[in-house]
Amino acid sequence: MAKLEGSFTVEDMKNVQINIGAVVKEEEEWDQPMGPFPKPQIATLRDWDFKILNRYRIFYAPADDTCTLCTYGPCDLTGNKRGACGIDMAGTCGKIVLVACLMGTCAHTAHGRHLYHWTLDKFGDMKFDMGTDILVTAPLTETIIGIRPKSLKDFGKALEYCEEQITQLLAATHTGQEGSYVDFESKALHTGMIDSLGKEICDMLQIVAYNMPRGDPNAPLVEIGMGTLDQNKAVLIAYGHNLAAGAEAMFYTETNNLWDKVDIGGVCCTAIDLTRIGEGMGEKKVPDMVGTKAKVAGAIGWWRKMVRAGIMDTVMIDEQCVWCDALKDCEERKIPLIATNDKIMLGLKDRTNDPVDEIVDDLVNFRVPGVVILDPVKAGEVGVKTAIAVKPKRADIKNKSVLTEDEFKKLVSSCTKCNECAFVCPPHIRISNLMEEAAKGNLEPFSSTYEVCVGCGRCEQVCRQDLPILKMYEYANREYIRNQKFKMRAGRGPIRDTEIRAVGAPIVLGTIPGVIALVGCSNYPNGTKEAYDIAKEFVDRGYIVVTSGCMAMDMSLYTDAEGKTIWEQYPGAFDGRNICNVGSCVANAHIHGAAIKVATIFAHRNHRANYDDIADYILSKVGACGIAWGAYSQKAASIATGVNRIGVPVVVQPHSVIYRRAFLGRADLPEDWMVIDARDGSKVRIEPAPEHMLYVAETKEEAMLMMAKLCFRPSDNSIGRMIKLTHYCDISMKYFGKLPDDWPVYVRHASELPLAWKDQMMKELEEKYGWKIDWKAKKIVEGPIRPADVSFDPTNIERKIRVRK
Ligand code: SF4
Ligand code: SF4
Ligand code: SF4
Repeated sequence: MAKLEGSFTVEDMKNVQINIGAVVKEEEEWDQPMGPFPKPQIATLRDWDFKILNRYRIFYAPADDTCTLCTYGPCDLTGNKRGACGIDMAGTCGKIVLVACLMGTCAHTAHGRHLYHWTLDKFGDMKFDMGTDILVTAPLTETIIGIRPKSLKDFGKALEYCEEQITQLLAATHTGQEGSYVDFESKALHTGMIDSLGKEICDMLQIVAYNMPRGDPNAPLVEIGMGTLDQNKAVLIAYGHNLAAGAEAMFYTETNNLWDKVDIGGVCCTAIDLTRIGEGMGEKKVPDMVGTKAKVAGAIGWWRKMVRAGIMDTVMIDEQCVWCDALKDCEERKIPLIATNDKIMLGLKDRTNDPVDEIVDDLVNFRVPGVVILDPVKAGEVGVKTAIAVKPKRADIKNKSVLTEDEFKKLVSSCTKCNECAFVCPPHIRISNLMEEAAKGNLEPFSSTYEVCVGCGRCEQVCRQDLPILKMYEYANREYIRNQKFKMRAGRGPIRDTEIRAVGAPIVLGTIPGVIALVGCSNYPNGTKEAYDIAKEFVDRGYIVVTSGCMAMDMSLYTDAEGKTIWEQYPGAFDGRNICNVGSCVANAHIHGAAIKVATIFAHRNHRANYDDIADYILSKVGACGIAWGAYSQKAASIATGVNRIGVPVVVQPHSVIYRRAFLGRADLPEDWMVIDARDGSKVRIEPAPEHMLYVAETKEEAMLMMAKLCFRPSDNSIGRMIKLTHYCDISMKYFGKLPDDWPVYVRHASELPLAWKDQMMKELEEKYGWKIDWKAKKIVEGPIRPADVSFDPTNIERKIRVRK
C-alpha cells in the first residue's frame, strides 16, 4: 500500500516510545447544555456574592484591634487608623475570615486528594455509579465544574480546579493584595463553595471505593458509646477523618479472623466512615457488611475522657480534628500511637519502610511512644498486631489508670478549694464544690456536670495540687461509661432522586415546614444533649432533619422513655418526621446536593455550570436552615460559608463568635427586600425571608426559634406559610411564653394565620398594627407587605426574567 507523506506504519517502528497525554473526550454525554459558569474563578460569581452581602450586612466584632500578620506591624487599627499596608479594621477582619475558611477548605480538599491517590492505587479506577435511584450523581461537581464524572479518575479534574482556586484565594491574603472587606467576604464565599466541592469529592470517592450506602434510608444501625468497646479484647482506636488506615486495620482483622481478639472503634469522623464500609449495593472490592463490626467510640469532644477512661490499647491517628496533645495523653498511659498521615506526624520517626514485626516489637515494648507509618496497609496491620500484643502488658497499666476508692477519696480531700480551676474552666464548673460533696460521699455533682465538662483539661494544668480532675470524673462516672451503649444509623450518603421527587413540592410550597441540617461539633457544655433536643424538636414537628459527623454521634447518646435513640425513634428517609445521618463531615456535601436536586429534579432547572441560578432558586424557594452548634473549627467556618453561598442560612452557637462575624438582614429596610418577579421583571417587595444569613444564637431555645423563622421563603403557599408560622409561634410560646414580636411580618392572607391564635391575631393586626379587617368575611383587606400569590416567581437574577413588562 502506498504511504502518505509524513505517515508511518507500526512495522517501521523500532525502539520508539510513544507518550500519550490526556485523552480529550468528546463533549460529555449529558442532556443538559453547558451553563454559563463552568469552573468559576474568583470574580465569576462576585455579582451573586454581592447580592447576598448587600442584603445580609456584614457585622464584625473583632477580638483584637492590632494586626500582627507581617513584620511591618504590629499595626494599631483602632478608630479609623490603617495599617502600614493601608488596610483598615474591617479589611483585616475579612482577611482573617478568609484565611480561616481557606484552612477549612484546604483540609477537606487535601483529604480528597489523599483519598483520590489512595483509592486509585488500592482499587484501580472504578465506575462512578450511585445506583438506579440516583441519576444526578455528583450535584456539586456538576453545578460547579460542569462535568458528570463517569469514573473515580474523573474527580481528578474537580480536584485540580479546587487546588487552583485555593492557591489564587490564598494569594489574595498576602500583604498588599485585597483590601476591601466586602471582597474578602466574596472570596470567603467562593472558598466555601470550593469547600463543599472538596467534600463531595471525598465522599463520592469513598462511597464507591469502600462500597458505602448510596442513599440508603435503612442504612444499618451500628454501635456507639464507650461501653460498646469490649474490654475482654484488645481495643484499637482510629481517630480523625480519613478512613484509609482504619479500614486497612478492619480488612486485616477480617482476613485473619481476629475479631474475637480485637475490637476496632473510631473517634470523630473516621468512626462514622468505618461503620459505612461494605454496606452498599455497588462493586464489592471490600468485605460485605464489615462496617457493622466497627464501633463508634465517640465524637471529638469525648477524646480526652475516653483516653483517661483506660479503654484503649492502641491508637491510630489520621488527619483533621486530632488534638495536638494526643501523643502526650497516650504516652502518659502507655498507649502506643501510630500516625498514619503526613499531615500529623508529631515529631515521631517515619517507620513506613521498616518490617512490620520490628515496629510492633518497639511499640509493644514501649521503646518508642509512637511511630509514623504512611502506608495505610502496613499501618493497619501494625495497629492490630500492636493492640493484641500490648493488651496483656497494659492490663496492669489499665488497672492502675483507673482510680481505686481510696485513691479517689485521698485526692478529693487534698483539694484546697483555691478555685484556680474554676477560673479557667470554660463552663465555669465549681470543681471545689464537686470535691467537697464527694468528700461527703455524694458523687452526684460529679455526675451531673460530666457532660457539662468539655474535657479540655485546663483545670488539671492549673491545679497546684496536681489533681487528675478528668480521671476523677471518670472514676465518679465509671458506671455510666460502662453502660454507654447506644445505636446510631450508619451514614446513608446522598439523598435519592426519588426522595426529592416526593418532597420537592412540599418543600418549595412550605407544607413540609423546612429542612434542618445539624452539622459540626457539639463539643461545648451540654452540647451533646442539646444536639439531641434540637433534632428531636424539629423531627417531631414534621421537618426534614439531616445531620452528620460529630452532631450525629452526639445526639445518639440519649434515649426516649422507651430507651430508643433518635435513630430508633424515627425512620431515616429524606422526608418530614424523618432523620437522616448522611455520614461524616465530608458527607455534608449531600445536604448541598439535596438542595441542588430540588432545583434540578423538582423544578427542572439546568444546574450544569449554573451555580448562581441554583443558589438563587434555593435562597428564594428551599426552606432550609443549617445549624453549627458548638465550637467552630476552621472547617466549620468554611462549611457554614459554603452553605451561605448556596443560599441557605446558618445559625451558630456563641462559641462560633470566635470569627467575630455575622451576616444579618435588616427587616426594617424595605429596599433590602426587593426581588424580581421572573414572570415579567417587575420588582416586588417581599417579607424578610430568610431574614438572616449567619446568625449567632445564645441559647438552644433562641436557636430553635430563629431556625423556624429562617425556614420561611417567599415561595411558600398559604397553607405552607400557615404551617411555618404555626411552628414559629408555637416554639416561641413553648420556650418564651409569648408570640414572637415579628409574626405579622410574615402574614399575607388570613388563611396563613395559625388556627390556635387566629382570632386573637386578627384583632391584634387591627388594633395594634392598623390593618384593615373585614370581620364579616374574616378577611384581611389591607396591611400585609404583599398579597399571597401562588404563581409569584421570585429571583434575584436579571437573566431569569422570562418576559419583560
Ligand atoms: S498586614 Fe498590614 S496591618 Fe497587618 S501587620 Fe502587616 S502592614 Fe500591618
Ligand atoms: S476539663 Fe472539664 S472541668 Fe476541667 S476545665 Fe475543662 S471543662 Fe472545666
Ligand atoms: S485548682 Fe485544684 S486544689 Fe484548687 S480548687 Fe481546683 S481542684 Fe481544688
